[in-house]
Amino acid sequence: MTRAGSPGGRAETHCVHCHARFAVADLVNAIDGYSRQVRVFSSRTPCCGTGEELQIDGRTLTRGYTYAAGSLHFEGMIDLPIAGLVVHDEGAAMRLTFRGRTWTVPAG
Ligand SMILES: [Zn+2]
Repeated sequence: MTRAGSPGGRAETHCVHCHARFAVADLVNAIDGYSRQVRVFSSRTPCCGTGEELQIDGRTLTRGYTYAAGSLHFEGMIDLPIAGLVVHDEGAAMRLTFRGRTWTVPAG
């Protein structure tokens, strides 16, 4: 399938570790922190708990990883549509709103 996910829809992705498929929303639900230095959210996969690093920019969620090259950088690997996700920067925390749910994660 090459068709893009429908807006606010059931976009799926896969685990790079165990290859299980899961909803992109599952990665959002598992976000547990935010690094202000590299603007990266930390999460984990619902299948095997592998750590994930995510950037969220408007309607796109990017899966990737951080690496040190003098300073920390983020390398994006997989871009996924994530229409409807809103991120508010509240200083000490990031507040996320998605599909009627709101949750707050610590920002370090
Ligand atoms: Zn997995």
